[in-house]
Amino acid sequence: MRPYSGMRILALCLLAFPPFAVAAPLETQLPADWRPVAREIFAELIQIDTTHEKGSTAAAQAIARRLRAAGFPDADLTLAGPLLHKQNLVARLRGMGKAKAVIYIAHLDVVAAKREDWSLDPFTFTEKDGYFYGRGTSDMKGDVSALVATLIRLRKEGFQPDRDIVVAFTDDEEAGGDANGASWLLKNRPKLIEAGFVINPDDGGGEIRKGRRVLFDFQTSQKVYLSFRLEATDRGGHSSIPHAGNPIHRLAAALGRIGAFEFPILLSETTRGYFAAVATQESGPLAADLAALGREPLDLAVAARVAAANDVLAAMMRTTCVPTELAGGHAENALPQMARATINCRILPQESPEEVESILRRLIGEPGISLTRLNEPMHSPPSSLDPQVVEPLTRVMKEMFSGVRLVPVLSTGASDSVFFLAAGIPTYGISGTFGDIDDVRAHGRDERVGVVDFYDSVEFVYRFLKELTGGKVRGAASGPGR
Ligand SMILES: [Zn+2]
Repeated sequence: MRPYSGMRILALCLLAFPPFAVAAPLETQLPADWRPVAREIFAELIQIDTTHEKGSTAAAQAIARRLRAAGFPDADLTLAGPLLHKQNLVARLRGMGKAKAVIYIAHLDVVAAKREDWSLDPFTFTEKDGYFYGRGTSDMKGDVSALVATLIRLRKEGFQPDRDIVVAFTDDEEAGGDANGASWLLKNRPKLIEAGFVINPDDGGGEIRKGRRVLFDFQTSQKVYLSFRLEATDRGGHSSIPHAGNPIHRLAAALGRIGAFEFPILLSETTRGYFAAVATQESGPLAADLAALGREPLDLAVAARVAAANDVLAAMMRTTCVPTELAGGHAENALPQMARATINCRILPQESPEEVESILRRLIGEPGISLTRLNEPMHSPPSSLDPQVVEPLTRVMKEMFSGVRLVPVLSTGASDSVFFLAAGIPTYGISGTFGDIDDVRAHGRDERVGVVDFYDSVEFVYRFLKELTGGKVRGAASGPGR
């Protein structure tokens, strides 16, 4: 879901010279002998078209072949999915069983791309001017390749993690629906992906601004999506003889009350941490206000000031419900028999959809307007800033991206993480890939990732997974071999 993930929020703030920033490096930290391995995997995956129609089976099989060749037994490579062309691959690196598995989820599918819309062929892997180009380079076959290369590297080293490391390479994140791999695996193969916590590199990631590595987004929670239909009806009649109860009037009045209502400001561990981090990137009164929001207790006057200054920051502070569609009436000269509106709510993870619904009912204020849910909300409680994740992450950040600040993020959108959050499994959006926040090309034309950024992301996943699962290295650390 890249384009909306990690908020990429600072693109909307006014950064001049961020004090926490380091120039993007020219040399990668990935050891030289692993670069061709990662590149070859990446090239192969970009050249396999995994758009919705084609499905991701060919890519899942290509990954399985590589892992099998690296020594993964067939029993630890499971291909499963709802349709022949929509198979997911679940790969397991066995550990010592000291804790529940850590699961990485990574989607293989990509958004459609037309040759004529691009300056290069989207399904040809191209290296040019310090970038790798191709559909999926940033969303998210780079992260997928980093995971494949890391599984191979850990296996070749004989690394034994303290718990199983499981990677679910899934289909149909972009298109959603019944074939969504994350949702399908949870429903149909729950044992296979039983986890202590989940990491989803589709969310989060490093932010480059003006050629400098600035922040590292770490997504811990998502807002909950819930839409409602409001419908007012009446017997209608000739417009020359109006009567009371015109549904357009009644619906408009109800929408007016909903529009005037503001849900209460509620901050969490994540949003406080986020505001504190953003404060360091700002100057003047806004910096002071953001810093104040980073501390408890909440100062409502400060929050109101910040919310008024920036819509994105406002959306992180409260639940929102906005009308998005409107219809009504059937003829210019007839009294309407029906008026209808859609309200789309984005609910803070610490609030309940039932509470939001009852507030809407109260605002509607009359039984003659029906309120119906258009979807069932996936309740997604925020993941806590668990030290077993935050500490290893901080250590690797310090080693690899020293000077870049780690920022917890609440996403106002939703990704595959929502299925795991709804199942009560803590889920974190963490990606080692840095990207330019002023040039986001995921889902767009000439999608690309920096060559150094890609290789660094491969090294990041390797170090982070090792730190997370602090097992022992058996045998000498080695190169990829033949
Ligand atoms: Zn994505």
